[in-house]
Amino acid sequence: MITASPHSRLSPTAPDWRDLWRDAITDAGELLQAVGLGHRADLLPADDAGFALRVPRGFVARMRRNDPNDPLLLQVLPQRAEHDHAEGFTVDAVGDLAARAGQGFLHKYDGRALLIASGSCAVNCRYCFRRHFPYGEEIAAAAQWRDALAHLKADPSIRELILSGGDPLALATHKLAELTRGLAELPHVIRLRIHTRLPVVLPERIDEAFINWLDALPLQKVVVLHANHANEFDAGVDAACARLRGAGVTLLNQSVLLHGINDDVDTLVELSERMFATGVLPYYLHQLDRVQGATHFEVGDGLALELQQALQARLPGYLVPRFVREVAGDAAKRPL
Ligand SMILES: *Cc1c(COP(=O)(O)O)cnc(C)c1O
Ligand code: SF4
Repeated sequence: MITASPHSRLSPTAPDWRDLWRDAITDAGELLQAVGLGHRADLLPADDAGFALRVPRGFVARMRRNDPNDPLLLQVLPQRAEHDHAEGFTVDAVGDLAARAGQGFLHKYDGRALLIASGSCAVNCRYCFRRHFPYGEEIAAAAQWRDALAHLKADPSIRELILSGGDPLALATHKLAELTRGLAELPHVIRLRIHTRLPVVLPERIDEAFINWLDALPLQKVVVLHANHANEFDAGVDAACARLRGAGVTLLNQSVLLHGINDDVDTLVELSERMFATGVLPYYLHQLDRVQGATHFEVGDGLALELQQALQARLPGYLVPRFVREVAGDAAKRPL
């Protein structure tokens, strides 16, 4: 008998996300080949500056062919400029190493606690501070989340638990369920927020088991996607977003302002419009964290402010992200 399921769009023959994860491209030459740039080995640096290339094939399929300036390719391809050093670009640009209150537990902001739930990501984004974070020691999921749950229990002012990483959806769904079983005994925690790039770079992760877990959670649920360009969205991402919304999730997005990738008005307008078409509201547009190896992605505050004004003139207010910078030691993200 065939029973109607709210998630019947999920094909039983859909590939398992773990297989797709393992099948990611990790070789720069192979990536160039895949986008028709096999003859451009000259684009590559001598080494990956200690941060491995990793990108799922489904994301590669959204890159334009024969275009070394493709905005998705530039987010993942190691470049020579990563070896440039510049004043102020450090290995702990956001002060997280100083703010940790326990195993993978960051409590910097009122009412919210952040867990570094996993050190892994399906994609390695070249602009990310994660390239220098000592994740080996910092995973909150270890030991059945015991440390994190103890901190949450001891502080009734924490209303919202934020899962971050790495990518928290790198964890198996049963591991996430272990955490939320513990949360059931902590009624002051009313909201679960997940920061993840997986629905965008590997939408197959939003599978039936995951949706069933989310759907059943007696919490307010927010998923903050990380997309930087409209081209990152395709039919697979739209389907993943629809499944998340069907499970009662509010969808937001945060982007990083990146030189040569999204630092012009038309690109940012298109990103907001494309996201809203799939039920995602823009939340933050971050100035780059000044991490060593990412100098070439930086956009000056002058241009950022011009872009903000231009977006305000062209879009409804709810489609304009908040332009912010994370400043180590501040009580909140700082508006530009
Ligand atoms: C960014 C961040 C948050 C969440 O800040 P919002 O402004 O609520 O998005 C919480 N904890 C830490 C450690 C953060 O870095
Ligand atoms: S934490 Fe997010 S931005 Fe950083 S490498 Fe992982 S997926 Fe990319």
